[in-house]
Amino acid sequence: MDAIDTHDRGSQDVEEIVRRICGVLGVDPDNPPKQPLPFMDLKGQLARIRPQVDAAIARVLDHGQFIMGPEVYELERQLCAFTGAKHCISCSNGTDALALGLMALGVNPGDAVLVPSFSFAATAEVVPWLGAVPIFCDVLKDTFNLDPKSLEAGVATAKRLGLRAVGVIPVDLFGLPADYDSLLPVAEAHDLWVMCDAAQSFGAIYKGRKVGTLARISTTSFFPAKPLGCYGDGGAIFTDDDDLARVMRSLRVHGQGADKYDNVRIGMNARLDTMQAAVVLEKLMIFRQELVERNDLAIAYGRALMGYAHIPKVPEGLTTVWAQYTICHDDRDAIARNLLKHGIPSAVYYVKPLHYQEAYRRYPTATRKLPTSEYLSSAALSLSMYL
Ligand SMILES: *Cc1c(COP(=O)(O)O)cnc(C)c1O
Repeated sequence: MDAIDTHDRGSQDVEEIVRRICGVLGVDPDNPPKQPLPFMDLKGQLARIRPQVDAAIARVLDHGQFIMGPEVYELERQLCAFTGAKHCISCSNGTDALALGLMALGVNPGDAVLVPSFSFAATAEVVPWLGAVPIFCDVLKDTFNLDPKSLEAGVATAKRLGLRAVGVIPVDLFGLPADYDSLLPVAEAHDLWVMCDAAQSFGAIYKGRKVGTLARISTTSFFPAKPLGCYGDGGAIFTDDDDLARVMRSLRVHGQGADKYDNVRIGMNARLDTMQAAVVLEKLMIFRQELVERNDLAIAYGRALMGYAHIPKVPEGLTTVWAQYTICHDDRDAIARNLLKHGIPSAVYYVKPLHYQEAYRRYPTATRKLPTSEYLSSAALSLSMYL
């Protein structure tokens, strides 16, 4: 494990960081706004496309096909075109997307699935749904993403515990694709499938290829706060595999076979509402422009904070959609408090690594300690993406 460099230069440092963040967001530090700024500006985004969203929702009310209406199929078509993936299966949310993937991959009780500890709970949560065991791996400090060495250690841990390691779920945390060129060979060497949790990274690019095409299955979420969000719950799955796509389409509707009342497998009700598909279609129209604006804000943060805090790095050949702009600093809590005094919100993702959560403490970890996940939970601070 590389030594973790810290950036602790005391309270002066904290004040300078806060002044610099104020500068980026156009807040006068001596004259903070009466109302705190929003952490993200979903209202402003809606204002931009309100007439189009109203019209799209009205169209759904008029045709009345609330379940699997034409907008659902149109969205799947457009998301395939956007990503270059052969199949897109829209679904109820990003968590169900992961579950549908695991079901289609045939995960069985007693199997082990490797997941990063530094992620949102949903990544691990779906694994015990199928009676399988999540094994928590560590992440890399510079990218927040799964560490291939820890993945290797996790496979060894599974063996030692007498579990069959069947797959790995890398997460593209905060919008940046994981290091697939390093992870895929490890997975291949141990005969693991790879399903990427791209809930935060839809729209990002890895060495010329779009998220959605980087693993056997990729899943995403349209939760309102994600870079491409709807106005409720929603999600989607991407794959180039015809058989997996067919099975997941069936699983999404109670394991349906030839028709609605033919059930050929145990499935779930995991469809995307037509209304939400209509919303995502409108959001997609301004998505590319929004990504440019998010990136401009990230560049401004980077310029302002370089040398003052550990700023996120985007590896050569990759893009991120900046689901979060996350810095690391030993005085994270002091920065957050001080920012709030200036009317600037921030957020901590994630306060606790998953292997410390009450629900997940009983499951194995790849190595006795996961030091980077622990460190990041104490030092990471996500800054306002108020564009
Ligand atoms: C948001 C998120 C999910 C779950 O998506 P929902 O649509 O809220 O179910 C899964 N994994 C990660 C990493 C997420 O950020």
